[in-house]
Amino acid sequence: MALISNDSLERLKQTADIVEVVSAHTDLRRQGVRWVGLCPFHEERTPSFSVDAQEKLYHCFGCGVGGDVIKFVEEKDGLGFAEAVEQLADRYGVELEREQEDPRAEARRKQRRRLEELLDRTATFYASYLWDSEEGGKAREYLAGRGLGEEVLKTFGVGFAPSAWDQVLLRGQRAGFSVEELRGVGLAQRGRGGGEYDRFRSRIMFPIRDRRGRTLGFGGRAMRSDQGAKYVNTAETDFFHKSKMLYGIDTAKAAIAKAGRAVVVEGYTDVLALHQAGVEEAVGVMGTAITGDQVAALSGMVEEVVLALDADSAGQEAMLRAQRVAAGRKMRLRVAAMPAGEDPAEMMAEEGGPERFRELVSAAAELAAFQVGLVLDGADVSSPAERDRALTEVAPVLAGMGETVSRDDLVRRVADRLDIEPAMVMGRMVAAQPTSGGEERGGERRGGPAPPAPRRAAELTSRERRERALLAMCIAQPEEGKGYLERLGDAHLSPSGSRALAWLREHPDPASNLPRDDDELSGLIAELVMLSRNQPASAEAMELNFLLLEQRRLEDEIAAAGERSDYERRASLSRERAALVERIAHAERR
Ligand SMILES: [Zn+2]
Repeated sequence: MALISNDSLERLKQTADIVEVVSAHTDLRRQGVRWVGLCPFHEERTPSFSVDAQEKLYHCFGCGVGGDVIKFVEEKDGLGFAEAVEQLADRYGVELEREQEDPRAEARRKQRRRLEELLDRTATFYASYLWDSEEGGKAREYLAGRGLGEEVLKTFGVGFAPSAWDQVLLRGQRAGFSVEELRGVGLAQRGRGGGEYDRFRSRIMFPIRDRRGRTLGFGGRAMRSDQGAKYVNTAETDFFHKSKMLYGIDTAKAAIAKAGRAVVVEGYTDVLALHQAGVEEAVGVMGTAITGDQVAALSGMVEEVVLALDADSAGQEAMLRAQRVAAGRKMRLRVAAMPAGEDPAEMMAEEGGPERFRELVSAAAELAAFQVGLVLDGADVSSPAERDRALTEVAPVLAGMGETVSRDDLVRRVADRLDIEPAMVMGRMVAAQPTSGGEERGGERRGGPAPPAPRRAAELTSRERRERALLAMCIAQPEEGKGYLERLGDAHLSPSGSRALAWLREHPDPASNLPRDDDELSGLIAELVMLSRNQPASAEAMELNFLLLEQRRLEDEIAAAGERSDYERRASLSRERAALVERIAHAERR
């Protein structure tokens, strides 16, 4: 398969009207060369989102998202890159040309295709084994006993893994796959004696697919009581990251987009039972809590996520993280209080169960209110120490909510119940803010789609502002800038600045080369390009900014030498700094 050529991508970006595309999600008003409006990715009252119609980029100075028109459609419509490109090409009548790709990338993509095929074949094998084998009879009985019909089981590709040790291994090898490949996708594992055997045996198999319906892993439910773990999942592989996947997303995505809501449950059979009962926006997490990555995967598609999970047993920390991601992405997290000891699958099997479930979903409480309620209900308010403990527990929950009316309500509720002033609750809440100022933040977010925590431009450190100004000037004046991009090093820059530097060195035309797989970097590069358009860039201003960053670097080194008690080094660095400060004073006078 060939790739869409860069030429046609460029033509698409030039032809597509980014202002029109964005305007479907927020009102934009012209302001000089830019269009500004309320950010469609985070909750805000004053506009910090802007679109540059000439550079064809968007960026939010509040939460840091940014990119080109393709990125916007990917994020807002929940599409993959290729799908977003095709949708825009359709809409704006741009013909896409395809071309050959670089051989190494092609080899990687082909290998990935091969492994996808292996997983897909295996899923097909498991499914036919469930329906056609004698051994599958017990599994069919079990599933029927849970009220699951053939139609829903087939839609979700449910299967059965034979009890033999090597059926998948043998079939895979016969079809030309190596043992390493089988192991690589988590279908085979090595025993103590060194031999290989099937990881899943005698289990009901649930293929776990991505949004586009590709099987990336499996969940297997034990059929016998002597089988050890009741549920076994594919281990983490290059392919399969449990914490990022939502079971059933491929089948549920249309209903989710239509309802603007996703209902999240815990088990595979819960998802199946709900779909069968017509709750088609149900997806599953493979654990007790929803992760930030899973929330982020739903953002853009939904405004609201309803958790029909056992929220008491989910870790508080995990819930807080999910809540912060949701607040940063303008989504509400709600909790449907399931009756104790009953899961959605059991409820669906009861008379009137589906109706009761729908009522629970529409009556769901906001996650924060739910968590605060748990703490307040459990607190003994007659004891001052207990009241203080309760306050300490609710503070981070409130802090994670973002400024909303419902947070103000909750603050009052807490103050009432604990019999203290609302100001005291607010004070604790501020102290519990998850991200305080500092320069390490850029380095905190690692892996996965980075949840952009709402962050004002004013919150940037002076070093970040300076480095951004210099990098933007390097874009505005590429000739002059080249030298600075070489002279700058990681020691001058914040972690995010370093990543932007590396990108700019490799991509002389950043406006048409935004990073595709790194949301944070894409936002930063879009910001720099937009800054470059109204930042006066002169040779003098560039030199001055560089010298000031150099001064910061020296000061860091001086501090480090002091910590090592290397006084000789510290003295020589201090002399260097004195000379530098003089040069800076000179540069400033010009
Ligand atoms: Zn924003």
